[in-house]
Amino acid sequence: MKADALDRLRGTLLGEVLGPRDAGYDTARRVYNAMIDKRPAVVAKCLGTADVVHAVRFAREEGLPIAVRGGGHSVAGHGTCDDGIVIDLSLMRGVHVDPVRRTVRVQGGALLGDVDRETQLHGLAIPTGQMSETGIAGLTLNGGVGMMLHKHGLTCDNLLSADMVTVDGELVTASADSRPELFWALRGGGGNFGVVTSFEFRAHPVGPMMLAGFLAHPVERAEEVLEFLRDFNATSPAHLSADAVFTHAPEADFVPAEFQGMPLVNLLVRYFGPMEEAWEAVRPLREFGPPLYDSMGPMPLVAVQSMLDPFTPAGNLHYWTSEFVPCLGVEQIDALAALGRDLPSSLTSINVHPFDTAATEVPPDATAFAHRQDSWLIHVICQWLDEADSERCRAWVKEAGALLKTFGLGNTYLNTTSEDEETDRVRAFWDERRLARLAKVKAEYDPDNVLRFNHNIPPATGESAVGERATEEPAS
Ligand SMILES: Cc1cc2nc3c(=O)[nH]c(=O)nc-3n(C[C@H](O)[C@H](O)[C@H](O)COP(=O)(O)OP(=O)(O)OC[C@H]3O[C@@H](n4cnc5c(N)ncnc54)[C@H](O)[C@@H]3O)c2cc1C
Repeated sequence: MKADALDRLRGTLLGEVLGPRDAGYDTARRVYNAMIDKRPAVVAKCLGTADVVHAVRFAREEGLPIAVRGGGHSVAGHGTCDDGIVIDLSLMRGVHVDPVRRTVRVQGGALLGDVDRETQLHGLAIPTGQMSETGIAGLTLNGGVGMMLHKHGLTCDNLLSADMVTVDGELVTASADSRPELFWALRGGGGNFGVVTSFEFRAHPVGPMMLAGFLAHPVERAEEVLEFLRDFNATSPAHLSADAVFTHAPEADFVPAEFQGMPLVNLLVRYFGPMEEAWEAVRPLREFGPPLYDSMGPMPLVAVQSMLDPFTPAGNLHYWTSEFVPCLGVEQIDALAALGRDLPSSLTSINVHPFDTAATEVPPDATAFAHRQDSWLIHVICQWLDEADSERCRAWVKEAGALLKTFGLGNTYLNTTSEDEETDRVRAFWDERRLARLAKVKAEYDPDNVLRFNHNIPPATGESAVGERATEEPAS
């Protein structure tokens, strides 16, 4: 970049522009996972859509590749890059609820907690993830798995429209009626197509009170717990979410002192239906075992959605993997129990989520999100504090991932992978036919692959493209 380039960008942005010589650059370049240490040429903290347009145009003039940062939670580090521009939306966290239409407009840098705070004022919620500090943008564009999956599907299944700035700086709207191919691609195709400045979601009446908590069992009983969860899940109410979580009991108020630090398999239970039915709905879960301790109790939805935050603070070292497995049979349960008894650090967890009902009832071709099969999502979250443990922890996760693959569906959930996930495995998520369709949308909206810090979809070549940009008016 020429010496005066940053000043030129500063002149066009209301937000902040930080280069390597600026105080604040080191904070601005940091992302959630401390394993990721990238040095962008510039971080543009945008204050609105116009800032995004100017930042994108600047990137094109300077020939800089673009990384887009929403909430910064990508464990693969996709929200930053070396030597390019980071278009950082962390100042764009506005949420506007229309309680009559039950729709919610969310800016591209909003966190899940921002969304819950505003929607809950109206007794509404969007199905999102399970921690309050994750960005809505990255989560939605690659799917969005949380406690309402059974009842309301993935986050992207609840998307109604998205406003996006293209890599040429054009503002477009994608919805079922406007640029339908782009709308299809944004629901599972990741951050490949442009910078999404706002999302419009369908919301559902939920809360404000829910029943939630942990039912803790000794890890020695993991096989029984997983069998119980499998059988219970087959007929459980749609408003109930129950996952198994292998972890060490944290030093937290809800954990009796004698169990703190103990390896456990927990049932993480959340019931978000009518409160008068709640205790009866969770009764079989509470009676099983009995648990070592039971922290179930009524809580506001916003508290439930942030109760896991203290266990995964920003700045730890992370390496993750995941795999969809078709069923919890003897082979799968034995393998998961063995992994769960051998966690490589006290902060590591393995989450076993049922993936079914509403999420699998969406027709497979309705969105770019490719996995619509009844299954279990096994998510290995390895985190540690000391760099000296990095090699050992990564090796453990790689081995765990290889084991999961032996009985998995060959599909991973792309929001939960690490930076070196094999390209073949990423491609396999979308399958060749879907990938060809995504590549055409990519060719239309980002033919030069300027947005390549993501699970990248190379643009189609040849006749390429889907032709919807030429035929439609730009959004007003
Ligand atoms: C602690 C923790 C908890 C999590 N819990 C869940 C969970 O419960 N459920 C779940 O499904 N996932 C969960 N995830 C995974 C999460 O969905 C991904 O990490 C996701 O990428 C986070 O989005 P972000 O905006 O915070 O990420 P960022 O790092 O900011 O962005 C990641 C990528 O998303 C794209 N992107 C981001 N913003 C935009 C935008 N505005 N326009 C275009 N592209 C954009 C870009 O490609 C970017 O590189 C969790 C992650 C963490 C770290």
